[in-house]
Amino acid sequence: MPSPHDRETASATEADRRPAAASTLRTLPAVHRLLAHPAVQEAARGAGAAWAAESARRVLDEERRRRLEGAPPRALDQLAAATAARVAAVARPSLRRVINATGVVLHTNLGRAPLPAEAVASVAEVAGAYSTLEYDLATGGRGSRLDHVRSLLRRVTGAEDALVVNNNAAAVYLVLAVLAAGREVVVSRGQLVEIGGSFRIPEILAASGARLVEVGTTNKTRLADYEAAIGPETALLLRVHTSNYRIVGFTASVPLEDLVALGRRHGLPVVDDVGSGLLFPPPAGPGRPLAGEPSVQASLAAGADLVTFSGDKLLGGPQAGIIVGRAELVARLRRHPLMRALRCDKLVLAALEATLRLYLDPAEAYRRVPVLAMLSRSPDELARVARRLAARLRRALGPRARVTVAPGDSQAGGGSLPEVPWPTTLVGLTVPGVAVADLAAALRQGEPPVIGRIHDDVLWLDPRTLLPGDDRELVRAAARAVDRLTDAARGDPAPAAP
Ligand SMILES: *Cc1c(COP(=O)(O)O)cnc(C)c1O
Repeated sequence: MPSPHDRETASATEADRRPAAASTLRTLPAVHRLLAHPAVQEAARGAGAAWAAESARRVLDEERRRRLEGAPPRALDQLAAATAARVAAVARPSLRRVINATGVVLHTNLGRAPLPAEAVASVAEVAGAYSTLEYDLATGGRGSRLDHVRSLLRRVTGAEDALVVNNNAAAVYLVLAVLAAGREVVVSRGQLVEIGGSFRIPEILAASGARLVEVGTTNKTRLADYEAAIGPETALLLRVHTSNYRIVGFTASVPLEDLVALGRRHGLPVVDDVGSGLLFPPPAGPGRPLAGEPSVQASLAAGADLVTFSGDKLLGGPQAGIIVGRAELVARLRRHPLMRALRCDKLVLAALEATLRLYLDPAEAYRRVPVLAMLSRSPDELARVARRLAARLRRALGPRARVTVAPGDSQAGGGSLPEVPWPTTLVGLTVPGVAVADLAAALRQGEPPVIGRIHDDVLWLDPRTLLPGDDRELVRAAARAVDRLTDAARGDPAPAAP
């Protein structure tokens, strides 16, 4: 608000400006001219004419306001670029590929396991076509969607039978709802886990209609504790792998073999939720710490009646929940009406079948399943990749950025092996005069988005989780991000508020 003594000056300026503003409004292009501009035409191709027209009107409204306030008029090309940007924002997918430079192999927020190339090809083949999802080519009659993975799962795990649902939470839920609703399930207090913030054993049990009978204490549970809890209402004994934490120190837990023997004596099934779905123990080499995860085969060999696990953790396939074990129990699960609600679709089955096929040769699986290959990369190889990435970044960014190389640790993630450090070599990035959070944001908002880790005011990039070809794209994305940041730092200061 001008004060009374400068009213005269103020109104003189406004009087000068108004006719000028009105005349620049006359040069404002019409909506149809903006829509005919090649940049807008190009952007509108994926977004539809209605949205393009709406975007053009919004940009022109804004331009009208700016001109009335005395801002210099923007040329048609600039207005078209603003319109195209608006249109493109809608056309751009929300679920996008990112470059994972965090070093967390099974990053739940970044979609857990990247699929093997064979699985991607298989999905592409059935996705846009008809398929044998529930069709038997031999008889011309109806088939079962589960058959595509059933025999592979039997062969690979050695189990009598197998079933696949949407995820492991659904697998545990189905087992409990079908085998234990209205009855009791005995679980050690040391295994009442929460995984990923929303999967909690006591809650999934309650939802299934089964009653939880907790035995032992957080750190110690003995066979006698289980034995004392068994009664006429007991439906099954449940063991849950404490995937994302370890109880160390003064501890005792019951080996699966002993739990199985107890179950047999009382005629009760033993269900083992192993979570991560490691099928085969790792070969000697840098992937050896994976041996710390319970394998599905070991669980079956110990005599578990049913074993449940995820498809997209260490198995390295699509999101799925897999149940393997005794044929008569699996048959009860398969026949239950809940199965229809929890079944998975053809894309998942295509990806899972192709992934499981790689496991017919376990050594091959450790080379071709990306999560297993990433966890098997040697520290020497990672150091070489890190040094090469650092050299490329230095060449691309020049003196504007500082690029360092330092030893560090990756993580398996996905609640697997939380206490195991996976030695790696990290590439550190800083841009003088730019806050590290702004640098991380610029990389996140680039194309493709690059996600790293911030530690000690440095943005760290871990080569372990880079997929083939990611490094070149990462360097280009980093160069563009640093361009934007240093342009912004050099650019004119924002106009002061009136
Ligand atoms: C991860 C995990 C689950 C949940 O599996 P989802 O596939 O994420 O549903 C259940 N139990 C255990 C032991 C797990 O590790």
